[in-house]
Order: sequence, then structure tokens, then C-alpha cells
Amino acid sequence: IEAAVQAMAIDNTPIKARREIDVLDEFRNTKTKENANFVVIGHVDAGKSTLMGRLLYECGVVDERTIQKFKAEAEKIGKSSFHFAWVLDQTNEERSRGVTMDIATNHFSTASTNFTILDAPGHRDFVPNMIAGASQADFAVLVLDASTGAFESGFQNNGQTREHTILARAIGVSRIVVAVNKLDAVNWNHDRYTEISQQMGHFLSNAGFSSNSTSFVPCSGLTGANIFHGARDKLPWYHGPTLIQTLESSKPRSRAINSPLRITINDVFRGGIQNPVSISGRIEAGSLQIGDALLTLPSKESATVKGIEINEQGSEWAVAGHNVTLHLSGINIIHLKPGDVMCSPDSPIVPLNCFNLKILSFETITPMLVGIHRGRLNASGRVISLLESMDKATGKTLKKKPRHIGPGMFARVKVEVTLSAGIPVEKGNRVVLRLGGKTVAAGVVE
Ligand code: GDP
Repeated sequence: IEAAVQAMAIDNTPIKARREIDVLDEFRNTKTKENANFVVIGHVDAGKSTLMGRLLYECGVVDERTIQKFKAEAEKIGKSSFHFAWVLDQTNEERSRGVTMDIATNHFSTASTNFTILDAPGHRDFVPNMIAGASQADFAVLVLDASTGAFESGFQNNGQTREHTILARAIGVSRIVVAVNKLDAVNWNHDRYTEISQQMGHFLSNAGFSSNSTSFVPCSGLTGANIFHGARDKLPWYHGPTLIQTLESSKPRSRAINSPLRITINDVFRGGIQNPVSISGRIEAGSLQIGDALLTLPSKESATVKGIEINEQGSEWAVAGHNVTLHLSGINIIHLKPGDVMCSPDSPIVPLNCFNLKILSFETITPMLVGIHRGRLNASGRVISLLESMDKATGKTLKKKPRHIGPGMFARVKVEVTLSAGIPVEKGNRVVLRLGGKTVAAGVVE
């Protein structure tokens, strides 16, 4: 019965009225909103959920009545300041439809941009989720708690401010927006803002973020100051952009639209009777239109694009940077899973079984067995040789062929996948190495 049901799930209805279009031309001539994805990082209690809830509220994702309801409930249980944080949970639940989806996302739009918050902060084990989210992030939003002593404790050795920031950089996130949050708790003190921005700026530049890819914004998620509207009364000393304006100006200036098609699958689901096989995912590179043939990896199955949705609206085409839902025909759902990659059969990804990685280590690395993860895709493998250790800031070689790489070091290593067919990774992909449930290193494929 199982087999019969699955066989029925292959949808072979011919694609109606394919209209061949010049997608790049359409894209140039259409004034659509741009898309940007970001990941939220920072120490526990820095105010990440509250700040994101505030963004969703100010951008109209939840209405005033819902907020008032949350506020009353929060007051009832004696957590009066928690109502904005609840917005995230609520919109998350409403939007997650696939059983397999495990990067929770929230969306909000401004006049110029559709934003996706990737794996908005929750209560789960953070690092693996952050890695999956950060592997698709255009930039990171680092939330700092400016209240007395709090910034310092988040910044100390085992505080998550450092860990998350370095991790994000190691997997290739190069732009960062620093929200210096909870300024209401320090009476909007300018000196406190300057102190934190200077310390953090110094740290970020050592971690490899260039100063023109780093922005600082003073704000308070709880009061809403300088999030959507400026707050001249509270922050008379500040003349820069609001948080929303900063997010808008942080989106990538160009996308790899002319490159071969690459889509990372986030979710696989049955989109109703008419669409037995649907995926949601992100177009990392290239473009596509209805009627296009796709090749899925690692299953090496082919499929045809029957329908495209961008932000829940039907579209005839989509390009790099879009988060899409694709309805597929000619393929059985069993061949698709989150983390898989789809490409065009004309310029497919060539799976690799041996490649070099530039990594940041979290544990001591020696030639050893590891799990190799690219987002949700993973394979068992080995570190087969340690090529060199490198200076964090300059990238210069410290030592060739080291015997081991200590925690917190940058290094270049060669890895091998056990599977002889290899895995679909390419230069620039963000990868992490894990062992026994722990992330031992994160890096980028060279
Ligand atoms: P997360 O763990 O980083 O997601 O932090 P939460 O958003 O859950 O906030 C942690 C605590 O800080 C809660 O008690 C919030 O009410 C409080 N908080 C969040 N943002 C602000 C803010 O802007 N100002 C003040 N004073 N408190 C805040």
C-alpha cells in the first residue's frame, strides 16, 4: 500500500502553456521588492526575541489587538515585559506546515525589502540551528544588552556574544548589524553606547569583519526606540539610521543571478491534491522559470517546475536571493529531503569526495573521523590532513602541516567523504564538522 501511495504521488500532468521567458530581462524590468535573510545572534537574554517581536509588530505582521492580548497574558503571569517575545512563537507556529522543517522562519516587509529572520532565537540548542540558519544568511544581527554588567558578561570567555560572532564569520557571514539594545535600562547613556561600540568594533575587526561591513545601532526593543522610528527625545546624540533603515541597507548589493542554478531545500511537503510534491527553499544562484527541468542531489533524480511561489504569491520565474516554494512534477517525494540541493541538469554540481576547507576549530582537530554538514545535508567523513594553521586577522600561514590544531584556531584542512559518490558541495559553501553531537569546526569550502 505504501508503495502504491508513493507511486501515485508522482505527478506527471504536462506543464500547461509554457511561456519561455528571458528571466534576467524580466527581473531587470520588474520593480519587485528585494529579499534579504538574516540570522539573529547574541547572548541569552540580550533581548533578541523581544527585538524581533517588535520588528514583526512594527511592520504589521501582528496587529495591535494580538499585542494587547499578549500583554494582558504576560501581566497575568507576572512577566509583563514578555509580550513581544511571544510574537515570534506565534507567527512561527502559524507558518510551519511541513513536519520536516527545522529552520524556523519569520517574515516581515518594509517598503523596499522582504525580510526573512532565519531560525529566530528560541529555546533550542542553539549552535546547530544557528549554523543551518547562518548558512543561508545574507547578514547577521548581533544583539547586545547594554545594561550595566550585562554586555560584559555576554562578552566574557563563555558568553555567547563571542562564540556566535566568530562562528557566523567562520561560515562566511561577512556583514553584521550590531543592535546595542536595552539602552532604556541605562538611561539612554551616550557614553555607554560609545564604550560598547568601541569594544565590540575592535573585537569584530579582529574576528575578520571589515569596518565597512559593520554597523552599530542604538535601540531598545522593549520601548521601540530607534527601531522603526527615530527617537530624538531619547537619543539626541544619535544622528544615524534606525534599525530598519540599517537592515534595509545591509542587503547584498548583487546576487549571483547569472551563475548556474543552485537551490537549497529547506522543507519538503505535499502541497495539496494538485501539488503532491512541493519544496520550499532558497535560490542561492541562477534563475528559473515554470517548465524548467531540475536535477536533485544527492538523489540524482529529475523533476520539472510546475509552479513557483515567491512569498506565497504565484510567479512565472524566480532568481537568486528569492525564497521560493516550488511545485514539482515527475518526481516522487521520497527522493527529496531538507538540505538537498537542486540544480539545472545543464550545469550540475559535481559531487566531491575530497576537498579543502578553511575552518575555525572549536575543539582540537587531528586527522580524525567527522560528520560533514552543509546546512541540513550531512555525510560521514574524515579529516585526512592538516595543511596549515593561519593567523585570524591576516590569514597568513602560521605553521605548515601542524600535528594538531588547537581550539579557536583558523586552519586549512583536507577532508574526505566516506561515500564514494561524494556530496554536492562547491567552492564557497558553508560547512561544519561535527563529532559526537558537537560542532568541532566550521568553515568554507575552498
Ligand atoms: P533573548 O533571550 O535574547 O531572546 O531575550 P528576550 O527577548 O527573551 O529578553 C530577555 C529579558 O530582557 C526579558 O525579561 C525582556 O523583557 C528583557 N528585555 C528585552 N528587551 C529589552 C529592552 O529593550 N529593554 C529592557 N529594559 N529590557 C528588555
